[in-house]
Amino acid sequence: MAKKKQNKRAPKLKFSNKWAYSAAPESTDHIELKEKYDLFINGKFVKPNSKKYFTTINPATEKKIASVAEANESDVDKAVKAARKAYDNTWSKMPGKERGKYLYRIARMIQERAREFSVIESMDGGKPIRESRDVDVPLAAAHFFYYAGWADKLNYAFPGVHPRSMGVAGQIIPWNFPLLMAAWKIAPALAAGNTVVLKPAETTPLTALKLAELIQEAELPDGIVNIITGAGRTGAAITAHPQLNKIAFTGSTDVGKIIQNALAGTDKKYTLELGGKAANIIFEDASIDMAVEGIINGIFFNQGHVCCAGSRLLVQESVAEEVIHKLKERMETLVVGDPLDKNTDVGAINSKEQLKKIKSLVKIGINEGGNCYQSSCSVPAKGFWFKPTIFTDVAQSSTIVQEEIFGPVLAIQTFRTVEEAIEKANNTPYGLSGGVWTDKGSKIFNVTGKLKAGVMWANTFNKFDPTSPFGGYKESGVGREGGLHGLSAYVHV
Ligand code: ADP
Repeated sequence: MAKKKQNKRAPKLKFSNKWAYSAAPESTDHIELKEKYDLFINGKFVKPNSKKYFTTINPATEKKIASVAEANESDVDKAVKAARKAYDNTWSKMPGKERGKYLYRIARMIQERAREFSVIESMDGGKPIRESRDVDVPLAAAHFFYYAGWADKLNYAFPGVHPRSMGVAGQIIPWNFPLLMAAWKIAPALAAGNTVVLKPAETTPLTALKLAELIQEAELPDGIVNIITGAGRTGAAITAHPQLNKIAFTGSTDVGKIIQNALAGTDKKYTLELGGKAANIIFEDASIDMAVEGIINGIFFNQGHVCCAGSRLLVQESVAEEVIHKLKERMETLVVGDPLDKNTDVGAINSKEQLKKIKSLVKIGINEGGNCYQSSCSVPAKGFWFKPTIFTDVAQSSTIVQEEIFGPVLAIQTFRTVEEAIEKANNTPYGLSGGVWTDKGSKIFNVTGKLKAGVMWANTFNKFDPTSPFGGYKESGVGREGGLHGLSAYVHV
């Protein structure tokens, strides 16, 4: 890559190697993983009718972790039938108070096994243990706790409109927050009285399968949660199944469009949570150090594998030089490497395919005239890695300003006026999230009110809570998850 050019143009960095920590790897002794995982249907692990299995690997080492069943159409049908039976005979008849007890039990059991879930999440997906330990797993438990509380209060959640469950939900989730996305989808569905068939992503099936084991131990009646594994074909079989009442999908905008087409003309309800190209907007009156840390958090922690990642930076011209200089200094201190090391900031890219996609978009960015700068860190020889990268000198029409990269790559533009910042921030096909950094409360309200994004943060970034709705405008999706909005997506009123 254009490395010589980059380093010549970069300012002299003063922080290099200041933060050299000793290795602090998390132990894997306490986790239990099987060599082979079957499909979780009707409360039991059953062999797939397809007789096929695929391999899930550790993206930091490229070593195999386990074989996982690949569900075909008849396996999907079996899971849907189990979910339907459980809905008709058990779950839809159970008082909300009793449903809530099961959800509380699952929440507590996730907390009890937080360490095991965190380690498996980092092994299977490549994200730093700090993130899986401090964000993914606690938030997954928090979603079960939150929705457990609503299970017997649906009439208060939606007063006067007689909320009723929908039936059976098909749920398809991506690889960036595997356990958390499963919790986002399963908890509100169950609280509202629905049963589910959930499919995790093919590169990160393990924590969903551990959740299946946990659900078995929690003695949730058979068939209420079915977890089946496979890739796009399995997902397509779920969306096509005629006996599902609702489809909930999180993933790429491309697949979201395929699903929306497949659902057109059916009476299935759906929510789609898709891609994003969030802008962090830094005004000259912001606390610059705080903002720089927010940008780093927004795009480099978790390798930019976040649909709401702050993958664009809009910085006011008067402070642009200072911000970019400080960003480069901070990039040099980021620890890139072993996801299981507690010091790691930036882990492995989730898969070979994703790494290829990131590399190709970065190449396009350079070919289109962008000025690319990368952290000078070294990365392990084995596994899938990409160094924290920023681009300056990019135009609004540049591919890397418009397209979601889903990697640790930040596109930086400048602006002079508030209007210009808003115009540029809104000028992409997406509208999932955004951030504003300023010390003026009035400016926060003015700007956030004009940005077409579903989630806005002010003087912080990537903060989540089960009580607040999440979702996007434009090509970022349809519907909301989280909070009461997320619950309403699982009831008829
Ligand atoms: P990402 O960009 O996050 O990898 P994808 O949209 O490719 O997202 O995948 C998200 C989820 O959608 C995964 O579980 C994947 O297996 C599933 N999937 C992929 N293709 C299809 C499809 N045609 N129909 C339904 N689900 C699909």
